[in-house]
Amino acid sequence: MKIICIGRNYVDHAQELDNAIPSRPLIFLKPESSILRKGRPFSIPTWSQEIHHEIEVVLRIGRPGKSIPKTEALDYFTEVGLGIDFTARDLQSELKAYGHPWERAKAFDDSAVIGDFVSIDCLKTSIDNLPFELRNHGTVLQEGNTSNMIFSFAELIAEITTFLTLEEGDLIFTGTPAGVGPVKDGDLLEGFLDGQSLLQLEISKFQ
Ligand code: ZN
Repeated sequence: MKIICIGRNYVDHAQELDNAIPSRPLIFLKPESSILRKGRPFSIPTWSQEIHHEIEVVLRIGRPGKSIPKTEALDYFTEVGLGIDFTARDLQSELKAYGHPWERAKAFDDSAVIGDFVSIDCLKTSIDNLPFELRNHGTVLQEGNTSNMIFSFAELIAEITTFLTLEEGDLIFTGTPAGVGPVKDGDLLEGFLDGQSLLQLEISKFQ
C-alpha cells in the first residue's frame, strides 16, 4: 500500500506558511514504513528541532482504479478517518529553499499516524461538510472543516489517478487546516472527526 498526501489544500494553512494557493493539487507520498503502529507513542527524532503536527482527514481506498472521473470518485472509498502528517518543518524549509524533494522531512519512520476509520454511512454530517479538530490535553490546536478544502475529495481522486493507480488499502491524507505547530515531550494529542474521538497519541522525547 501507499500513502498519498496533499499539500496546501486549505487556504488558511497555505497562508500561515507563506505558500501560494496551488492551481492544482500538490501531491507527495509517504512509504508504508512511515506508519506509526497503533497504541505506540510518537518519539521526537533527535535530528529535528521542529516536528509539526498536521491533522488531516484520511480516505481509505476500497477498490483499485486509474483515470477515475470526478463523477465516480466517491465510489472508491467507503470509510474516512483522521491522520497526523508529522513534518520536520526545519528540514522541510531547508529542502524547499534548495528545491529538493521533501522525503527527509515528510517520509521518516512514524511520520504517518492513523486513527480509527468510520463508515461514511455512520457519519452525522455529509463528507463535504465534516468538522474535525486536534486537541492537546483538551486545548484545541487545529480546527478544520472539509467544506474549506480547495480541492474536494472527488477532485483529488480524479487528479491523483491521472498518473497513479490507486489500490485497495491505499490512504489519502487530504491536507491540513491552519494551526500547525511543534509537538513536545508530554503532549497528549487527540483528534476528533464529526464529533467522534478517532485518534489519541502521546508524544515522548527521544527515539
Ligand atoms: Zn500534510
